[in-house]
Amino acid sequence: MNTEKRVRVRFAPSPTGGLHLGGVRTVLYNYLYAKKHGGDFILRIEDTDQTRFVPGAEEYIFDCLKWCGLNPDESVRNEGPYGPYRQSERKEKYRLYAEELIAEGHAYYAFDTPEELDEMRRKYKNDENPQPQYDNKVRMRMKNSLTLSGEDVHELIRSNTPYVIRIKMPENETVSFNDMIRGEVSFNTSLVDDKVLLKADGMPTYHLAVVVDDHLMKISHAFRGEEWLPSAPVHILLWKYLFGLDKMPHWAHFPLILGPNGKLSKRDGLKYGFPVFAMNWTDSKTGELTEGFKEKGFLPEAFINLLALLGWNDGTEQEVFSIDELIEKFSMGRVHSAGAKFDYEKAKWFNHEWIKKLDAGSLKERVVEVLEAKNVKVQDEKLLLKVIELVKDRCTLLTDFYEQSAYFFKTPENIDLSPIQPKWNDKKNLFFIELLRNFELENSWEAHQLENSFKEIASVNDLKPGEVMLPLRIMLVGGKFGPHVFDIAALLGKAETIQRVKATLKVLEGA
Ligand code: GLU
Repeated sequence: MNTEKRVRVRFAPSPTGGLHLGGVRTVLYNYLYAKKHGGDFILRIEDTDQTRFVPGAEEYIFDCLKWCGLNPDESVRNEGPYGPYRQSERKEKYRLYAEELIAEGHAYYAFDTPEELDEMRRKYKNDENPQPQYDNKVRMRMKNSLTLSGEDVHELIRSNTPYVIRIKMPENETVSFNDMIRGEVSFNTSLVDDKVLLKADGMPTYHLAVVVDDHLMKISHAFRGEEWLPSAPVHILLWKYLFGLDKMPHWAHFPLILGPNGKLSKRDGLKYGFPVFAMNWTDSKTGELTEGFKEKGFLPEAFINLLALLGWNDGTEQEVFSIDELIEKFSMGRVHSAGAKFDYEKAKWFNHEWIKKLDAGSLKERVVEVLEAKNVKVQDEKLLLKVIELVKDRCTLLTDFYEQSAYFFKTPENIDLSPIQPKWNDKKNLFFIELLRNFELENSWEAHQLENSFKEIASVNDLKPGEVMLPLRIMLVGGKFGPHVFDIAALLGKAETIQRVKATLKVLEGA
């Protein structure tokens, strides 16, 4: 195991599309571990599969990490001493290692054409082996440097015959390693195929590149999702052959994130109407838009918090954690290995808690963004802060601030009279005329004072305050929602309140 002191972790995405919340959780756990141990968090772009290149995907990853506040210490944008940080720019580094493996008998050249590979899959397919692989059972029947003479191999390479380099998986060996979450994990090497390490275009595959780069970039801990566990035996062997197991990083494989039917997928999001990606992602080929947590109205503070709890807890009942608390409390030993179920209702609960927790000043800019996107202009910042304070407990998503606060800045266009019109009568009409008169004379425009006069006038007019409260709310807000109606009137101010009451009264009188 790697005994070097400095903690260096990495997130190594292939930039091929939207960033799934499981990917962000991998970033988060890496980040928390690095920060807790005073180490470095590295972002390495694993783009060796050129056929999967997607324009804009790399930039999108940076945007997502920035939104989450999980910025890397070293990356293509802020190179440290181990660059380049994009694997396609490190192409020439890998061949050397692949050839070293061949020289030592751990890998071989394979010249099989795609047709020959298809033929192999057809020929060896049977009930016991429904998906034949290029492995110890078939390798000696294929066209490679294990079956051809040295001369033939030399000639094929000299005449530019395309070839790949494959690892020669040992037969019936047990490969084990210690996973910081799962404990000892073992594999039988006979069950693993001879993975390609270097492709015909000279690019390494992920398997070779990930090991070489973790070594060259002095990664001390390699943390990634459970879906990479089946690749671990190949990586462990490459470490053993190339650099020595004593140099190998510590490993941890994070639990899967489960949706309503097994592993949480993009499709689940579309089907059940919740986001799965960190931010909006549009597939450049199909034009399909997949919604992100950001655009759905999540706070990054809440997103991080809910992700941290998808697979980890601190052993207490506490659920709401700031990033600083997470850095302090996070430990790999408390990450569980069983799949973590994603519950969208619970995700919204976290967001609601965070909206309540943050003060108006911290929410201000994000609320302005929501309002401006809907053409609501905010000119009075002091008013905005008061409005946020007043309505934030009613908002689960940031986007709820539109409904809950737009009417403070813009006279409602639609006034829903249906809850009051059927019960409207002269008595109520007279009440409001008197209320208006009283409002005109009111000097101290304060919620408490307004409420007192309102109740007094109601009692004089032989009305219960409850009978005229809803009409007042609808006149001011446009609908049956919002905080205490006199708090609303106080913030709207005298002129605007009077104007809204008058306007609706006119409609009701005319009806
Ligand atoms: N490139 C891999 C990915 O796309 C990295 C896996 C690993 O961390 O080893 O997730």
